[in-house]
Amino acid sequence: MSRTPLIAGNWKMYKTIPEALALVKALLPHLPKDREVAVAPPFTALYSVASCIKGTALKLAAQNVFWEREGAYTGEISPLMLKDVGCEYVIIGHSERRQYFGEVDKTVAKKVNSVLEEGLKPILCVGERLEEREKGETFEIVKKQLIGGLGNIQEIQKIVIAYEPVWAIGTGKTASPAQAQEVHKYLRHLVEEKWGRENSEKIRILYGGSVKPENIDELMQEEDIDGALVGGASLKAETFVKIMNYGVT
Ligand code: PEP
Repeated sequence: MSRTPLIAGNWKMYKTIPEALALVKALLPHLPKDREVAVAPPFTALYSVASCIKGTALKLAAQNVFWEREGAYTGEISPLMLKDVGCEYVIIGHSERRQYFGEVDKTVAKKVNSVLEEGLKPILCVGERLEEREKGETFEIVKKQLIGGLGNIQEIQKIVIAYEPVWAIGTGKTASPAQAQEVHKYLRHLVEEKWGRENSEKIRILYGGSVKPENIDELMQEEDIDGALVGGASLKAETFVKIMNYGVT
């Protein structure tokens, strides 16, 4: 089963509007043909980036969302607003949101549902902390996050899963390709159990956690790794261009 790889850059709380525009302009001439590439700028730069990439193959993602369509929710951004500004993907349940902003599986599930209702595609992040891995709880944790975040959704084809071991995010420590593959295979198996074989073969499972030009090739050789969610290395055109063009010598 061939799945179109997706390389997504999570810019986190970096980049002013001029900086964001300079970065996407530097990426555009280097977009690969046979894979999808997306960037997730901060909310403040979404409109400018959307205008700049209009008509190109580069996709726009948001880093977070609230689950209501509109209302008196000071400071929040709705799926309707993200669609309006030109997003196709929304990152949901990133470990930084779980760690610093009280995100839990229940709120992740509400966000996934509301994003799907608006016709957008969730990138659902799951991943264990170091102490959980050391206690042998990795599978249990990612299962709880996956099933808790997806519930009984019908539109499983629209979901992208990102396996991001928390101990590998922003630390420079990457999971070895074998460690990542083991969890990706397990996640695909969970999708098969609940949504059937056909869906499990189609769903894309990205790896995230200190992905860089030096390790992307070997990660992408693993059978169940269908792309990458890239933090730090997506902030510079030089490194992100190399990552999205992995395997090209
Ligand atoms: C991330 O934030 O999703 C991430 C994987 O970050 P980094 O690549 O910097 O580890």
